[in-house]
Amino acid sequence: MSKLVVISGPSGVGKGTIVSHLKEMYQEKNEKLYLSISCTTRNIREGEIDKVHYYFISEEEFKEKIKNNDFLEYNQYGTGKYYGTPKSTVINYLNDGYDVILEIDINGYKQIKENYPDCIGIFIMPPNEKELYKRLKNRNTETEEVIKTRLETAKYEIENKDIYDYIIVNKNNQSEHSAEEIYNIMHR
Ligand code: 5GP
Repeated sequence: MSKLVVISGPSGVGKGTIVSHLKEMYQEKNEKLYLSISCTTRNIREGEIDKVHYYFISEEEFKEKIKNNDFLEYNQYGTGKYYGTPKSTVINYLNDGYDVILEIDINGYKQIKENYPDCIGIFIMPPNEKELYKRLKNRNTETEEVIKTRLETAKYEIENKDIYDYIIVNKNNQSEHSAEEIYNIMHR
């Protein structure tokens, strides 16, 4: 049976790298995996591609989708930007036999777990909390306000990590090992 998996963790913890290793593992084994692409109203960052990393849409379009019940879950994150998981795409992939990964925040996870109790929630922890906070503070690509909300969100998520089914510590430079752990959880 297809698995629906939610992966959360503070920004800067290395979720993206872990998930790309996981994708390679599925490819090597000829297994079907779909990484959900969320809609967001936040600005596109350098190096990001529309419809690959996110569907970058306006707030108006986002609100229209909320009205039409197009999201499996959605959240207004940090500085007021919206993020949401497109419902029909995820359902179609699950019905087609794909395992589906949602890389979303803790509020999104709570909504998904309520509606899909069989989903697997995985929280990725940094090996060293203090180090993570220091790194987040020093990221100079973000405004003060964004940094502040990211720090607060990271603290909140780490404090509430026990609501997840599994907690994985992503040790430095061991993202392949973390991906293997997740692969094994998904094949239990
Ligand atoms: P970023 O702006 O750094 O790409 O993402 C900020 C946060 O939003 C991350 O914690 C990310 O996991 C979360 N996020 C991304 N897409 C979604 C989504 O569709 N729904 C929810 N609830 N959170 C999301």
